[in-house]
Amino acid sequence: MVDVAIVGGGPAGLSAGLFASKNGLDTVLFDTDKTWMHKAHLFNYLGIGSVGGSEFMATARQQVDDFGVDRKQGEKVTAVEESGDGFAVTTEADEYEADYVVLATGASRDLAESLGCEFDGDLVDVGVSMETSVEGAYATGGMVRAEEWQAVISAGDGAAAALNILSNEKGEHYHDFDVPDTAESVFGGLIDDE
Ligand SMILES: Cc1cc2nc3c(=O)[nH]c(=O)nc-3n(C[C@H](O)[C@H](O)[C@H](O)COP(=O)(O)OP(=O)(O)OC[C@H]3O[C@@H](n4cnc5c(N)ncnc54)[C@H](O)[C@@H]3O)c2cc1C
Repeated sequence: MVDVAIVGGGPAGLSAGLFASKNGLDTVLFDTDKTWMHKAHLFNYLGIGSVGGSEFMATARQQVDDFGVDRKQGEKVTAVEESGDGFAVTTEADEYEADYVVLATGASRDLAESLGCEFDGDLVDVGVSMETSVEGAYATGGMVRAEEWQAVISAGDGAAAALNILSNEKGEHYHDFDVPDTAESVFGGLIDDE
């Protein structure tokens, strides 16, 4: 049993994984590497001047790995179902149990539909917390948006989902704030993990 299972490892899923694992949640992420980022070159990601999409992905993957996400690259999720108080996640290779699930499969909405999430037209219906009508199940990125398909928006969706999960777990609004004094310990942790 893990705390969070994330389906999809584009900007939305990786961002959800980073925030969840950095803040102590046991997190597994599945990805089949069909991200649109391999076709993109970013000039519009705030704080980054210019970067190739695949190069961005390599950095982002390294970052989530350093923060302890169990990234199952190449493992396709075939089903997500409610199970007890959480979810059963079936892949081509194995089965997993998780308290929360974050769907981050780009424009593909099949898993959200089979899980029973409510839709608003073609889009999975979520608010700013990114939680779907199925308690504990979150939807992020392309599947919740008509056309606002930008990497920075997907990354924000993933972060919002993870912070909402953290708030649920902690029982109060959770902030992932670092200040200059914590920089050394964060990087020390990363270096120790290598
Ligand atoms: C030609 C092109 C140019 C672009 N240019 C820009 C740009 O300049 N700037 C910008 O901000 N954005 C750009 N984009 C859009 C950007 O790539 C997307 O907004 C971004 O990739 C969306 O992120 P996401 O995480 O929501 O989904 P995705 O990046 O699509 O990631 C979804 C991931 O989920 C995986 N997945 C799906 N189903 C499963 C499953 N069942 N099991 C496991 N894994 C699964 C997929 O393999 C994929 O890796 C461009 C897109 C294209 C096509």
